[in-house]
Amino acid sequence: MADVERKLGRIVSAETEYPPSYYAATAHPTPDRPSLTEAIEADICIVGAGYTGLSCALELAEKGHKVVLLEGARVGWGASGRNGGQIVNGLNASLEKIGQMFGREAQAFVGGLICEGGHIIRDRVARYAIDCDLKPGNLFAATTTVQLRALEEKRALWSSFGMDAHEMLDRDSIQTHVQTDAYVGGMIDHTGGHMHPLNLALGQAAAFEGLGGVIYERSRVISVDTSLPQPLVTTARGRVTARVLVMAGNAYLGRTVPELATRVLAASTQMIATEPLGDRGRALLPTERCVEDMRYILDYYRLSADGRLLFGGGTVYGGATPKDIEAKLRPNLEKLFPRLKDVAITHAWSGNFALTLSRVPQMGRLGPATYFAHGYSGHGVTGSHLFGRILAEAINGDLSRFDTFANLPWSPFPGGQTLRVPYSILGSWWYGLRDRLGV
Ligand SMILES: Cc1cc2nc3c(=O)[nH]c(=O)nc-3n(C[C@H](O)[C@H](O)[C@H](O)COP(=O)(O)OP(=O)(O)OC[C@H]3O[C@@H](n4cnc5c(N)ncnc54)[C@H](O)[C@@H]3O)c2cc1C
Repeated sequence: MADVERKLGRIVSAETEYPPSYYAATAHPTPDRPSLTEAIEADICIVGAGYTGLSCALELAEKGHKVVLLEGARVGWGASGRNGGQIVNGLNASLEKIGQMFGREAQAFVGGLICEGGHIIRDRVARYAIDCDLKPGNLFAATTTVQLRALEEKRALWSSFGMDAHEMLDRDSIQTHVQTDAYVGGMIDHTGGHMHPLNLALGQAAAFEGLGGVIYERSRVISVDTSLPQPLVTTARGRVTARVLVMAGNAYLGRTVPELATRVLAASTQMIATEPLGDRGRALLPTERCVEDMRYILDYYRLSADGRLLFGGGTVYGGATPKDIEAKLRPNLEKLFPRLKDVAITHAWSGNFALTLSRVPQMGRLGPATYFAHGYSGHGVTGSHLFGRILAEAINGDLSRFDTFANLPWSPFPGGQTLRVPYSILGSWWYGLRDRLGV
């Protein structure tokens, strides 16, 4: 086996194979793509085959560009193939906060595009017949009346930007969608939804390749020179010189590009999958919406296509994987749904996402011809698809939306490389306390 892999030029290790997630166990067959083992030239090179990289690559390929995608592990190996699958419109930072931080003009700009990521996903699923169990509607659940009021304000603000697909729920009507006593109400966004995240990534990779795109897997970029007129990226066994380079490694990029590492903080969140629940699952979530609550450290969950509860939660600043993920998440699951006490857990996994201090994702340029986008702060399924498109627009010559995002001011995390994790834990403890006190 090792010899065969070596002949094919692949470097196989635990770090390059899919984690033991429910998604990897139920992924559609996908080609085992080659590693890069030579020096090549590319018109456009994209680093990272998550949603950001794939979305950008597919948009460019649709416009007739020649694109090479370098992935350190496998397509969708990062957050994009491990997430809650929740298609939630908006960025992590609320429109209200964006208005406060950047002013009315920036708020109107973001208000005009925050449903676009969801449209991109639905369009691609339809256009390329991507089989990823796409279902409509996501539900925000309020655990306190303060949160419910915040949802009402959110609905009013979104409506002022023409987004009217929201439905408020009170303590009784939320029970039609989720059978628990934990919530005082909530709000459905009928234009949200959920899907199998890894199959969505694999489907977009196949669509990209169908248009002539090239993907190398197990080809981690170890250094990048963005100062050259033609950026140069180096992997363990190969090199790419490109006219244009896009860095889309998000939290998994680590310190490969030091200028990007200071902008984001890696954090991990965990998920578990139960055994198939059959009628018990349908009783808990009769309308099959996906749900996230409104707390700072939130629970998020939904039913899979085969009737399991896929349940996520927790944030570990710095991005470590907890030793016992089931022990960490099971108490939250059982508190919410006491009738699932002792349910069998079949899969448990962790994944990293990138936080920015403002919770607004960032895009920008390094050197003369290198672009980047990252930092969706845990709400990136729609944002990464949108940012991939905006990067593609910029590379294709239309810089208008790219420039608006790239010019938004940003701040590094306080405390530098050594203290930013403890400071973030402290901040999270404070907001968690406010949630517990209901203020
Ligand atoms: C467990 C979990 C649950 C989540 N749930 C939700 C949810 O329900 N809804 C939601 O909106 N958001 C959710 N998110 C966030 C969302 O998944 C991410 O914001 C989004 O997938 C980011 O996509 P990306 O392409 O930027 O990054 P990633 O998907 O992480 O992709 C980056 C890719 O780049 C590759 N890479 C990195 N460095 C290099 C290198 N040096 N060389 C080559 N390749 C490299 C990595 O291997 C990886 O495949 C969740 C995240 C996690 C971890």
